[in-house]
Amino acid sequence: GFNCGIVGLPNVGKSTLFNALTQNDIPAENYPFCTIDPNVGIVAVPDPRLYRLAELVRPERTIPTTMEFVDIAGLVSGASKGEGLGNQFLAHIRETDAVAMVLRCFESEDVHHVEGRVDPRADAETIHTELALADLDTVSRALTRQERAAKSGDKEAVRLRDLLERARQALDEGEPLRTQGFSEEECRQLQGYHLITLKPLMYIANVAEDGFSDNPLLADVQALAESEGAQVVPVCAAIEAELAVLDDEERDEFLAEYGLEEPGLNRVIRAGYDLLGLQTFFTAGEKEARAWTVRQGATAPEAAGRIHTDMQRGFIRAEVVSYDDYIAHSGEQGAKDAGRWRLEGKEYVLAEGDVVHFRFNV
Ligand code: GDP
Repeated sequence: GFNCGIVGLPNVGKSTLFNALTQNDIPAENYPFCTIDPNVGIVAVPDPRLYRLAELVRPERTIPTTMEFVDIAGLVSGASKGEGLGNQFLAHIRETDAVAMVLRCFESEDVHHVEGRVDPRADAETIHTELALADLDTVSRALTRQERAAKSGDKEAVRLRDLLERARQALDEGEPLRTQGFSEEECRQLQGYHLITLKPLMYIANVAEDGFSDNPLLADVQALAESEGAQVVPVCAAIEAELAVLDDEERDEFLAEYGLEEPGLNRVIRAGYDLLGLQTFFTAGEKEARAWTVRQGATAPEAAGRIHTDMQRGFIRAEVVSYDDYIAHSGEQGAKDAGRWRLEGKEYVLAEGDVVHFRFNV
């Protein structure tokens, strides 16, 4: 699966958010390939388009696509030197595809702050430093090996050494690798080392119930994120925790009371999905209407492989209708009649929202 690790200092609301995210854990029987791990939450990606499709097709079941969030506990100042759960923490975060950093933007007498003050910008700094130090350690070791290899004069080895040296210098100054302007090829090479500061990052600003506007702490985080070209999702973990245990009707009332259109978690999930560079395609039939995830830029056979490896192996063609056309022409037949139905080959790159039917040899 594609996953986003949730990190933050202790007591910023990580567990509260993670528990809310996984409260409506989706039925495991639909996802037999997923591992069961208490720190991994498989979360349905909210997508109103799927339900509009289902209204047209009236399938036996409707299944949203999912992504994973991983609760990564144990980050404290000094984690890169093995303080607290430092080593475990780093091992876990290296395995994730993207990072969501929770920052505390609420004041509360009742909730202790590890550093004794509420200052999300300083907290972010602490975490960035730990992550850069951890990467510095990894890169320094790799560099030592690579310097030896480069002595032979092998061009590849020399190039990799120089790349690692650039990375080392950035990290040495506490800079994350993701903002260093490395080319796609260079990033691919560096990714082999599971570097944390190369992973895409977003901020989750945990605000008080009334902290969505006129909140200088939130403004601080927004300014920081803007300077890094990162996204901020403001959310109130306390509200989300309450929402997560309500039934649909109660939830609508509760949201209306706060003047909210949807749970804040939906925004967290969508932002995580975007951060991972993912997109959705749909399959719609009598048995099942379903949303699926592929990476942006995936070809038709790759998409088929998300459903079943046999479908990828035996791929012949994809029948494709865009979501908008599917809805505008009331389904497959209407889209066909209107000439909006296409047959695509194995080079086809999926567009967001494509409704697809794969033809394949068994
Ligand atoms: P973690 O250590 O980052 O996982 O933090 P927790 O989720 O365990 O939260 C620490 C404490 O802060 C708990 O007592 C939560 O109830 C409280 N807390 C979390 N989010 C909020 C919030 O949005 N507002 C307030 N007032 N308290 C919160």
